[in-house]
Amino acid sequence: MTVDRIAMNGSIKKPHFVLVPLFAQGHMIPMIDLARLLAHRGVLVTVVTTPANTARFKAIVDRANVSGLLIRFAEFRFPSTEVGLPEGCENADLISSLESLDLMTNFFDALSMLREPLLRYLREVKPDPSCLVSDSCMPWTVHVAREVGVPRFVFHGPSCFFLLASRNASRVKPADPLETIVVPDFPHELEVVKVQALRFFEFPGWEKLFGEVAEAEETADGLVINTFEELEAVYLERYSKALDKKIWAVGPVCLANKDASEKLLRGNKTSVDDKYVLSWLDAKNPNSVIYVSFGTLARNSSSHLVEVGLGLVAANQAFIWVIKEAELTPAVQTWLEEFEERTRAMGLIVRGWAPQVLILSHPSVGGFMTHSGWNSTLEAVAAGLPMATWPHFADQFLNEKLVVEVLRTGIAVKARMLAVYRTHECEGLITREDVEAAVRMVMKGGEEGEERRKRAKELGEKAKRAMEEGGSSHESLTLMIQHVLELANNTTDHPSSAIRKLIDG
Ligand code: UDP
Repeated sequence: MTVDRIAMNGSIKKPHFVLVPLFAQGHMIPMIDLARLLAHRGVLVTVVTTPANTARFKAIVDRANVSGLLIRFAEFRFPSTEVGLPEGCENADLISSLESLDLMTNFFDALSMLREPLLRYLREVKPDPSCLVSDSCMPWTVHVAREVGVPRFVFHGPSCFFLLASRNASRVKPADPLETIVVPDFPHELEVVKVQALRFFEFPGWEKLFGEVAEAEETADGLVINTFEELEAVYLERYSKALDKKIWAVGPVCLANKDASEKLLRGNKTSVDDKYVLSWLDAKNPNSVIYVSFGTLARNSSSHLVEVGLGLVAANQAFIWVIKEAELTPAVQTWLEEFEERTRAMGLIVRGWAPQVLILSHPSVGGFMTHSGWNSTLEAVAAGLPMATWPHFADQFLNEKLVVEVLRTGIAVKARMLAVYRTHECEGLITREDVEAAVRMVMKGGEEGEERRKRAKELGEKAKRAMEEGGSSHESLTLMIQHVLELANNTTDHPSSAIRKLIDG
């Protein structure tokens, strides 16, 4: 369907969605995917950004524009220097590389300073905005939407499993945060280490933002979540009831990237020649390579990197291993040169940014060792791949639980990791033996491994079906657009059925 027909109808306003992402790659990437999905339905989309963030997404948006999609940036200067951040420090991945994580609060202060410029922009912009879709971590948009008089939807990056479990777990407050608790009112028995089930910003020093984020969710006109009904139906239903809100499950949004060039342009500029990576993979057998990557914010200490590398070698496993620039200390560089030389026949090391979705969708890739960030998890689900999970912080521990205990498409690298940590300051959390065992289980694993792979494949099929026309997520996005149109247009003049008829074409 396309809502262009609605615009042509004249009397019904063309929808104009304003997306406000959190400037962190794990949040911006799915928001840009969502922008493209909306634009494919004929919605005009404006994405709020800043110069350094525009630079990261310009190529994929330019490509979308060339193919006729109406997506534009509303770019604002980022007030880095006003809050004591280095000039150009406009994305959370750069803050994670700074000496002190305390600067993260300054980053959020700077984000909230975009409130006035955005408000001024939205008062002037034509066509009038129909709604804001803002990241759950951007609570200052509450006032913007209210003052402009448009509905506001909260976009959640993490899984609904995490949202529900951490919300319910917040009622249990053991004296020792390392205590294992049972999550109350959960659809099934779920045991978690308390400190591994915290909501976003639920830690000392962040009380103000925590309260604002909760309030922004409570007062939202609905929630948009990057997940799909067939994966999380029971959690979606419970969460919707708990908040008494509509939820639209519109994912996995990574499936908006259909051809190789879209997959390649998604996110940062890649640090490797994609043709080389693809021909390297082409030369391998189906399901024979493990892809190893830990997202954009987690930082592994040099000793942990060594354990990962030696574990892969011990498992005699072909691999593509992504090591972030921020992890490439001189000591790691030196070790890596020797390691790379030794493992040239079996592995490919990417220093920096890899085209993850492109790699995961190659038939030679048979497994993913991941930090269990929700995007990476969903990308593995969409590619039908089993996972070896090594969560580092935030929602990652609960995402691991979903994958390992509920979906049973993954193996934990460490069964009970009693920690939550700033990774590069930690040592000894996993060993090469842990890595070797998990890799063997995920890539082979005998009959149990076969069953796991089969489940992962079936889930991948369901994910694809959800995003196709008539699928649950496709329908959910239709309903969301319809809802916005009904709010923007007088439903007495234009009853729901007429709007729906136009959307369906
Ligand atoms: N990503 C990528 N190449 C890389 C590293 C990350 O394309 O080298 C993408 C990945 O596909 C995912 C996002 O960055 O879409 C990371 O999000 P996730 O939620 O997995 O983890 P986070 O970085 O937020 O911890």
